[in-house]
Order: sequence, then structure tokens, then C-alpha cells
Amino acid sequence: MCGIIAYVGDKPSAGKILFKGLHALEYRGYDSSGIALLNERNNIKVFKKKGIVKLAEKKFLKEKLNSNIGIGHTRWATHGEPNNKNSHPILSYSKNFAIVHNGIIENYSSLKQILLEKGYEFNTDTDTEVLINYIEEIYNKSGSNFENALSTALRQIRGAFAIAIINKKTPKYLYGARRGSPLVVGIAEKKFFLASDASPIIKYTNDVIYLKDNEIVKVSSENLKITNLKKEKINPEIKKIELKIEEIEKGGFDSFMLKEIMEQPKSIKRSMLGRINVNTKSLFINGINDYVNKLLNARRIIIVGCGTSWHAGLVAEYFFEKYTRIPVEVEYASEFRYRNPILNSNDVVFFISQSGETADTLESVKITKKKGATALGIVNSVGSSIARATDEGCYLHAGPEIGVASTKAFTSQLIILFMIGVRLARRLDKIKEKKYVEMIYQLDNIPKLVKEILKKKNIIKNIAKIIYKKKSCLYMARGTNYPVGLEGALKLKEISYIHAEGYPAAELKHGPIALLEKGTPVIVICTRSDEYEKTIANIEEVKARKAMVIAILDSKNKHVSKMVDHSIVIPQIKNDFSPILNIIPLQLLAYYVTKYKGLDVDKPRNLAKSVTVE
Ligand code: GLU
Repeated sequence: MCGIIAYVGDKPSAGKILFKGLHALEYRGYDSSGIALLNERNNIKVFKKKGIVKLAEKKFLKEKLNSNIGIGHTRWATHGEPNNKNSHPILSYSKNFAIVHNGIIENYSSLKQILLEKGYEFNTDTDTEVLINYIEEIYNKSGSNFENALSTALRQIRGAFAIAIINKKTPKYLYGARRGSPLVVGIAEKKFFLASDASPIIKYTNDVIYLKDNEIVKVSSENLKITNLKKEKINPEIKKIELKIEEIEKGGFDSFMLKEIMEQPKSIKRSMLGRINVNTKSLFINGINDYVNKLLNARRIIIVGCGTSWHAGLVAEYFFEKYTRIPVEVEYASEFRYRNPILNSNDVVFFISQSGETADTLESVKITKKKGATALGIVNSVGSSIARATDEGCYLHAGPEIGVASTKAFTSQLIILFMIGVRLARRLDKIKEKKYVEMIYQLDNIPKLVKEILKKKNIIKNIAKIIYKKKSCLYMARGTNYPVGLEGALKLKEISYIHAEGYPAAELKHGPIALLEKGTPVIVICTRSDEYEKTIANIEEVKARKAMVIAILDSKNKHVSKMVDHSIVIPQIKNDFSPILNIIPLQLLAYYVTKYKGLDVDKPRNLAKSVTVE
């Protein structure tokens, strides 16, 4: 969600660098973009426009302004509709300051009132303009020291922000600050960058500083200084980016989503690397080692996430409860954080987030720690805010996920959760050594089975051709695959805009069965499980209403194959682990339906990759 890129350096190519950076940030989701540059005559020039980055870039290319300092932004509107004037960068009232901002200023309306009374006028509907004018007001009032004005103003701000500012008063310096929203400082030879994540700066440097909450950075082409809001100097820790350029390129695929779906045998393997070893028959999750005893003695495990991560949590609930007998609850982060959850030091809370920057999840971590419970992260982005805020955790190591619809992160979340569950079950002696070893073998074999399913993509493509014109689709499944039904429906609706709902199969007759008409697609997960016969009975019910049934089966069951309209047969695996296989055809189905509809699979409307506002 929203991207910031800012640059200061000894070469006058800021404009070009900023637009390159904005293209690298496009995957995060946005509705408008722009840059601001300080030119030789000390004027701030803004090029911004509603819509894709190319449109703002076109404006810039007409002038090709030389500059060695500037800020850039892809906006995901929260305050004020996405239009040209509300796009960032935004100038202050005097036009001496320009800002880009990611996040929400919660007390913007009271600050705006103060500023209006002082005679400020506003050109946009954004909270961001209030922030920059408030900084300007303090600057004018308090002796014209920009650094001081910035920290004084930010102390009075409520809400989340990552900002970058250039100004005419100290034209050599680029300023940045964060609270809640991410900001990374890139350090190269006579150049510094500020960015929402490492993707726009990886071309220039591997050395970064992850700015912490309430820190301010001031950089020129020569110097870097970090302070906190009390104006105390901070000694930053320089880290190495682990990202490789190939990982953020499409590598011959037409979209990041397809690349990421096809990559899953490898990404799942990477998540298991160093954790599972079939030769020594061992399974270790180093990331949470220090907290294993806490987990074994936990009164309760809570899993917190949003969207796809929440679905992974639901699958884990089935698995953990079955094998560890520790009670598990799964919560939406956006609900958990506001309902004063009952927590104490006997609770362990897992936080699942692909980006590690999900605003509601991050806030939930803080609440959990305040209440004395243990906070463990399951995160993909190395060095992200949630990874740093939790007590401990394990990285997915799935590699960067760029497609807005999460695919490989989901399967890696599942494999990590399964591994944690198996390890705990064995330590609790709820499973015996023989079963434990069997499970290790089964987990280790998953990448091979995923590969086999991916080979069937043409069968799924043909089914997509049949359903892409439909208005609505239902997904049904039981037990541990019920959350996979939810995830399959989410994939379809988020990228193809076809209405889709997932239900536990038996729930259909409590309402949604009323939606069925002749030919309504109903996608059923019907792989072998204890509930298999019951799912078949549910298929009968929807067939009787003339729905079009598409079934995922794990063997050629002639009876079921005959009953349904289309079947996708996948390899068999123990039911407990089947969610990780069953989701693959559903990801491909959503992908192909969207392609048939001629839509952009990587950038669905209104959605953002990294949801950094609440
Ligand atoms: N709240 C700001 C706006 O609506 C920033 C949004 C963003 O994070 O992109 O302009």
C-alpha cells in the first residue's frame, strides 16, 4: 500500500531515479503517483497525476529537470478521492516544503482547525497537507530550525506515518521519519535513499538501515544523521538486504502471480530448508526455540492475521488442536486490537503477515506484549516491522511476493504452521516417534506433489474458460479444507471481481443454497478425509439444484467423477496436510478466469499488497 522513494546524491539524476523507484513500488497497489524535485534555482517542481506511474512520468519527461534531490510517491487514497490534486507530493502553504506520506494522521481535523484559524488555506482534501502545514507553522513560530520543527510537530501527531520531505530552506537535506508505516534508508557511495521497502533501492546498494518508530533521518549526499523525537542522536545499525534482483522480476512469466504460483515447489522447499531433515529424521524451528517451553505450557494459542494470513491461521487451528490438544483461537487483527482481548503471560500469540507491515497486525503485536503474553511472528519480509516487534518468530523464506493476490506466501505459511504443530505434538508426546517420522517424510514430499499439480494447469485453464462469464461462484469444503474454500473464494473475487463465497459444505443449506441457479459454479474440495462421504452428500444437494459442480478429487472416484460436471484430480496426501495441495488448483483457477476476463492479475482494482493503513 502506497510507496515512498526519495533520493539525495551527487548526480543530478533524481527524477530518473525516482521514477525507476516508483515503477518498482507499483506492486504495492496505488491509485496515483508523483515526484517533487528541487532545481538549481531552489524551486520545488512537482510532477504528479492520477493513474499509473507512466502518466506522471510523461509529464516529467517533457521537462527532464536536472536535480540531485527529490521525493516520490505512489498513493493509495485514504483521505480525499484519488485525483490529480490529492496526489502526492504535496506542497505546504508557503510552497517552501514538499512532503510524501504513507499512513493516516488521526488528529488531522483538529490540527486543520487550528491552521484555518491562523489563515492557512488548503488545496487538497488530504490529511497529509495538514501535516506539512502544521510542520511549517511550527517552523515559522519556533526560530526556523527545520529539524526541531519536525520533531516538535511529530510529537503532536496521532496516527501512523512514513514521510519524506524536501524544502527550500535547507535545500541540501532530505528528511524522513516514521511511526507505524515502514521506511528504509539505503546507503550508497555519495547517495542516500529513503523507501517503503528495499525493492526500489536494491539496484544501488545492499546496505540499509530500518528506521524505527519515532525516528527522524536527515541526509545530504555526504552525511546521515538519525535522531529520535526527543532530539537524541541514534547510532543506527546497518543491515544487508537479502533480496536478489531476479526475485523482483517476472522471469519470463506474463505476471508475477503466475510466476509465484509456479514457483511454489521451490518456495515451500525453501521454507523447510534447515528445518526438516529426512536423513536425521529431525524437525527444528530455530526461530521459536526460546519459546518452545512457553508454547508447550500455553493455556491457549491465539493466531492473528488478516485476509490470506487469517485463512492460514484457520488451517493451523484444525491442525494444532487435533495434534497438541492446546486450545486455539484465530482472530482478525483489525478486531483483536480493538476489543481489549483477555491475555496474560500464559498465552502465546502468533502473528502471520506476508509483508510484516500489516498495520492492524503490527498494532496487535504491541497490545499483546503490553499485556504480558508472548508474541511470535510468521513473516515473509525479512527485517519488517512485525518481524522486529515480535519476541521471536520464523521467516517464511518464500522470497518476495509481488502479485497482490497472495499465493506462495500462503503455502509457506501453511508449511511453517504444520512444522510447528508437528514439533509441538511430538514434544508433548501426543504423537509417537513413528508417526512423527512419517509426518516428516510427508512434509518433505509436498514440493514434489505441488509440482505434479502444476503440470495440470491446462485442465484448470479449460474450466476457467467455462466459468469466466459467470456472475457468482460458491466454494464448499469441510474440516481442515474449509479455510481453503475461503481462500479459493478470496483469490477469485480479489482478482476477477466475480462474486465468490466460501462455506463449510454443510452450511450451504442454512442460506447460500438459495443463491443456486442452473449453472451456478460450485467448487467443491472433495479429497479423502473422515468427512468425505458427507461432502459427497452435499454435492448431491447442489447437483439437485442444477448447479455446475467442479470438484477437486484425490483419486479417480468414478462415482463422484460422474456426478460432477468437471473434476480436477490431484495426488493423494494425508488429509491433515491436504490444504497445501488443494489450494494450488484454486489459485490457478482464479488466475485463468482473470486472464480470460482480460484483467490485470497483478494489480486488482482498489487493492494494495502491503496494507499499511488500518
Ligand atoms: N492519508 C494519505 C492520503 O490519503 C496517504 C495515503 C497513503 O498512504 O498513500 O493522501
